[in-house]
Amino acid sequence: MGKKLLVMTSGGDSPGMNAGIRAVVRTALYHNLKVYGCRAGFQGILEKDIFPMDASSVANCIQRGGTILQSARFPAFAEAKVRAEAIKILKKQGIDYLVVLGGDGSFRGATLLEKEGGPKVIGIPCTIDNDIIGTDYTIGFDTACNTALEAIGRIRDTAFSHNRNFLVEVMGRNTGFLAIDVGLAGGAEYILIPEVPITTEQLAERIQKRTRAKLGSVIVVAEANHPYRSVKMADDLHRLLDIEYKVCILGHTQRGGTPTLLDRKYASIMGAKAVEALLAGKSQKMLALQKGEITLTEFPDPAAGYRKFVDDDLLHINEVLCDVKMDR
Ligand code: ADP
Repeated sequence: MGKKLLVMTSGGDSPGMNAGIRAVVRTALYHNLKVYGCRAGFQGILEKDIFPMDASSVANCIQRGGTILQSARFPAFAEAKVRAEAIKILKKQGIDYLVVLGGDGSFRGATLLEKEGGPKVIGIPCTIDNDIIGTDYTIGFDTACNTALEAIGRIRDTAFSHNRNFLVEVMGRNTGFLAIDVGLAGGAEYILIPEVPITTEQLAERIQKRTRAKLGSVIVVAEANHPYRSVKMADDLHRLLDIEYKVCILGHTQRGGTPTLLDRKYASIMGAKAVEALLAGKSQKMLALQKGEITLTEFPDPAAGYRKFVDDDLLHINEVLCDVKMDR
């Protein structure tokens, strides 16, 4: 009897997931697997929201942001009894393989599922934060960067015209990958990232010390797990410098939108390779981009205790171009 593969998206959504789903579904069909989708990640398994998919289930979705399968955060999946119920449901359905598009939380859930008797799992790293250890790239990052960059371009137009200063807050829960790339490409005067924490007082000092008169400026602020922190920062800068900073928080606009070529391309390749990996007997691994090559690698080990750091070179170039010394 033909083997059965289930595909799902879990955790935070990111643009490009649909290209990944499409590639998984069509590659699995190409290899004569029976394909199922599950709505809203692990929650969908428990809700028995599992349905067959064919080639036309993924027609006309490659250009769409979000995920046609929908996603969810489902904390109950950390409980062994909930996973045992999920395994029972998947066994009844006869699911042999599972491809999860998500972040490291989703991969932890999927690993436990397999270890406890569930289907063999392969992960595709998806998050706009690009913060998954073991891969240089995650699906959605490029689109989010370009969305933020476009917004900064618009803001720079008006900043210049009115000699205004802006704080532009971008996403980035614990890391500054998005902020650094967007700040660098957007010509930001300063880029504030969680890896290099500075106080608003220190920032104000640096602004005071700047040598070049500015015709409006943009400071890129990574939200760093404190969304809207730039509002208080603007108040503080006003108090300290008597300079008005307007605030623009890009928020979830960065999570949506038409995926870029890069995200669609990597998602397509990773989706195809995820299925091939399962057919080759591999599991509990994720697709990754390492030094320009797409490869299969271990899931991030939560016990490893190390983080993925932004590129030192980028930090240095930012120091030079933005006239800011980011001490570490
Ligand atoms: P992401 O996958 O984007 O990192 P989360 O960390 O929110 O997002 O994880 C997504 C989902 O994965 C959770 O809502 C939960 O269902 C499952 N999950 C996360 N961590 C675990 C865990 N330690 N054990 C079991 N399931 C988990």
